[in-house]
Formats: sequence, structure tokens, C-alpha cells
Amino acid sequence: MTATIIDGKGIARAVREQVARDAAELAARLGRPPGLAVVRVGEDPASKIYVSNKRRAAQQAGVQSWEHALPEDTPQAELLELVQKLNEAPEVDGILVQLPLPPALDEAEVLASVSPDKDVDGFHPLNVGRLWEGVPGMVPCTPAGIMELVRHAGISPEGKRAVVIGRSNIVGKPVAALLLAAHATVTICHSRTRELPAVCREADILVAAAGRPRLVRGEWIRPGAVVIDVGVNRLPDGTIAGDVDFESASRVAGHITPVPGGVGPMTIAMLLANTVKAARWRASRPVRQ
Ligand code: NAP
Repeated sequence: MTATIIDGKGIARAVREQVARDAAELAARLGRPPGLAVVRVGEDPASKIYVSNKRRAAQQAGVQSWEHALPEDTPQAELLELVQKLNEAPEVDGILVQLPLPPALDEAEVLASVSPDKDVDGFHPLNVGRLWEGVPGMVPCTPAGIMELVRHAGISPEGKRAVVIGRSNIVGKPVAALLLAAHATVTICHSRTRELPAVCREADILVAAAGRPRLVRGEWIRPGAVVIDVGVNRLPDGTIAGDVDFESASRVAGHITPVPGGVGPMTIAMLLANTVKAARWRASRPVRQ
């Protein structure tokens, strides 16, 4: 069997085109485009690239963006003050604090200071709670993108066995919550899980988010399963590998995402979709800024 490739690039393009239509409609209605403020602290080169990619995609979709670049030694109080200003700024619909923050800063406190209504990353504790309660809120971008890819594969999670490798707050836990909300039977695995290959073999939907290059091999996969590879691992030779050994896995899986070109492009697309969602949400409830 040869798996059908889930084309994340193409699906992300379609999401961004929809965002552009929604942004134009909102701009006409509100008299301004949806706005995304990005806060970056320090000189992490990867963060700089991520932020500039996000801003470029925003611009292409008709979403206004602002970058607030603060020095590495910014005190916590100053960062909180900036977030508060952005919380109150009427033209800002979404606020994203680029992670990781320098070690001297308290990441949890900063994320909790973002207004939940503008929390386009979905990391505020209130939105985390909403996600597990199954009520509407802001959903983290990578997990939201993964669900979009599963949907495009034509697979309904309802009644299926889903296995998620990884329990991080950014990927593993929220994608497990979304699969559960979509009525899958969900198992979350981590570094202490015993007999990981046997657990994976039970999966109709397997999400690999461990950050371990080519951890998942073909013999771990149930024939016909949907395999979503979230991993982005830089190898010593400079190339990027996913968490799934694509060559062996694609001979067994029914559907599979490539790396690159799978989950990666979806993350930014869903960030823009969340910004439009936040703008709509705020426009319908003008009292709560
Ligand atoms: P993370 O915070 O490092 O979490 C990794 C998780 O995997 C942890 O829960 C860890 O278990 C588990 N794990 C590690 N090795 C394992 C093993 N051998 N067997 C079973 N479980 C194992 O990583 P993350 O932020 O969730 O990201 C995961 C991967 O996705 C990374 O490669 C990252 O670069 C990528 N990523 C991609 C995107 C995108 O847009 N494409 C976005 C975010 C992340 P413990 O909890 O027990 O330590």
C-alpha cells in the first residue's frame, strides 16, 4: 500500500485565501483591517524568522500586523505593561507573544496577562480550560491545523482510536483535547510510555509530536491509518526530519503528512484564521475590549 499524501501546503493556501476574503469583509464592515500584534523579546534567530514569516503571511491576507521587538534584558513589569497596552488597543484583535521568552522572564505570567479574547495562540489558561470543557474559545494554531488536515483527509475521528505521541501544552495536550471533542478515543503517550510501538499500532489516527527524528517506523503503524507528523528536527547535516520515518511509514499508512509541507504551513494559516475569529468576536461584543 502507498499512502495518500496530505498536502499541507495546498490546504494552508486554501485557509489563507479564505482568511483574505474574511479579512476584506471585516475591513469593509469595521472600517479597518483585522490587526495582529506580535511581541518578541531578545535576539533568538529562529524567533526572528518565525515572526517575519507570520507578518509576511498576515500582510498577504490583508491582516495588519505590528511587531514589538524588546531587548533581551526587558524586565517582566515592562513586558506586562506592553501586553496591557495591547489588550486595551482597539485596533489590535490578536496578540501573540513569541516563545520561548528569555529565561529570566516568567512565561506563564505573561501568557496569562494576554486578554483571553485576543489570545490568538490559545495559550491563556482560560482558553485551555474552554478547550477541555468543549466550549468555544481560541484554539492553539498547530493543533487546529492538524484537525484541519485530518478533516481534509476525509477521515471523521468519531469512534476512531487516536494516539498522540507527546504531551506538551502547545501540541500534544491540545490536539488530544480536539480529537476527544471530535469523539475519538484518545491515548496520550510520552517518554515514559511502555511499549510505544504496540500502542501506536492500535491507532486509526496517529499524531507524532515528540521532537525525535524518525521515531515512528512503518512497523508501528496500523495499515491504512492516518499519520500526522508534527516533528521538525534539524539533523547534523542541516536537513529537516520529521518524527516519522516517511519511507517505511508511507508504505503502510492510508494517509500521511510530509515534512516539510505538512503540518508546518498550517500553523501560520491557523494563526491568521484565529486573528479573523478574534476580530469577529470582538466586533460582536464591543463592550469587552
Ligand atoms: P516538547 O515540548 O519537547 O514535547 C515533546 C513531547 O514528546 C514530550 O511530552 C515528551 O515526553 C515526548 N517524547 C519525547 N521523546 C519521546 C519518546 N522517545 N517517546 C515518546 N514520547 C516522547 O515538543 P513540542 O513543542 O510539543 O514539539 C514536538 C515536535 O513538534 C518538535 O519537533 C517541534 O519542533 C514540532 N513542532 C512543530 C510545529 C509546526 O508548526 N510544524 C509546531 C510546534 C512544534 P515527556 O513529557 O515525558 O518529556
